[in-house]
Amino acid sequence: MELDEQVGRILAYGEICDHCLGRFFGKRSFGLLNEDRGHGLRVAHALGENTPYRAHEGSCWICHGLFDDLGSWAARVVEALSGIEHATFLIGTRVPPLMAESEELVWSDLGLTGPEPLKSEMNREVGKLVAGVTGKVADLAHPDVVAILDLAAGSVGIEITPLFFRGRYRKLERGIPQTRWPCRACGGAGCERCGFTGKMYPDSVEELIGRTAAGAFQAADAVLHGAGREDIDARMLGSGRPFVMEIVAPRVRAVDLPSLEGEVNRAAAGRVGISIHGWATRDEVETLKSEKAHKKYRISVEVEGGIARNELETALDRLRGAVIAQRTPARVVHRRADRIRERRVVDARVAGLEDGIFFLDVVGEAGLYVKELVSGDGGRTQPSLAGILGRPARVIQLDVLEVEGREERR
Ligand SMILES: [Zn+2]
Ligand SMILES: [Zn+2]
Repeated sequence: MELDEQVGRILAYGEICDHCLGRFFGKRSFGLLNEDRGHGLRVAHALGENTPYRAHEGSCWICHGLFDDLGSWAARVVEALSGIEHATFLIGTRVPPLMAESEELVWSDLGLTGPEPLKSEMNREVGKLVAGVTGKVADLAHPDVVAILDLAAGSVGIEITPLFFRGRYRKLERGIPQTRWPCRACGGAGCERCGFTGKMYPDSVEELIGRTAAGAFQAADAVLHGAGREDIDARMLGSGRPFVMEIVAPRVRAVDLPSLEGEVNRAAAGRVGISIHGWATRDEVETLKSEKAHKKYRISVEVEGGIARNELETALDRLRGAVIAQRTPARVVHRRADRIRERRVVDARVAGLEDGIFFLDVVGEAGLYVKELVSGDGGRTQPSLAGILGRPARVIQLDVLEVEGREERR
């Protein structure tokens, strides 16, 4: 079908605006607005048919006059973005199904090969107007904010792109979980048992860092992603555990990270300390979670009936380098799959003796359960220190001294 015949067929559907007419041929030629295309096609059609030229008037059967309102849509976006710091933005449009079906009907009836959807013209034209007012840059790939035009509701919604920073944390106090832990009794709703906090513990590493961070970024939330986690009753010492902090819906983006590090360390003094290494991306969260870092533990151990240093050292000789078969520990099996893992003990040696209690340094592959390595967990962990000694042994206290990270392996 020739172009002019297609235009004639489109005009026969009903009253249509220049934007919508031009958009059916949106991928023809360059450097034209769809409105220009529509006007040109309408003129050419009148000339070709030698009929009186008539400009569009009344309501367009496809967009119902949407493109007369570009200015007010742009104003609504500018209003919705005010107070949200951003350098780049993107416009998205939620098109009512009937509107989309109208133009798709024409595409298929006429077998059009180069139409542009209403959504993309709307996004582009409103974007140009917004950029003109705010001076910000439209960015399709990595916008700081996305403004969604809901055509049916007549409203604009804003999605703020999260920010990420990475660093290491030290946990200096026992009894703090890594992340928020909802109350088991009420599931987070708040009840008498949890003092109506909805939480099992008043604080977590996540909140001790996140409260300050969310304040600095004026964010809705701050979520901690750790490279593994230590037990609640274990400290995390040495250079700390790698983490990535996700800042959810930040209204401020230009936060000075060294200042934030200082603020967090003052607010959480004596409980949690951090060093911030720089900005991060969402991809780094996945990398962090899949890292198989060796961990070094300092544990104090109690053996029933006491033990002589040389007997302990002989037992550790057998564990050093050994591959341990561990069934999911009895203490966590209620929330994790019951299966057998094999993890290597990289190193195990006596670090000291104090008041009849031995301190051991153990280096294990990621995922090694150290408490069970000592106790044997009723036979679920093999071999174990208790198994080798032939009598009960248990960990009294445990600290993580080192989590190997990417920076060390580079
Ligand atoms: Zn229209
Ligand atoms: Zn509760």
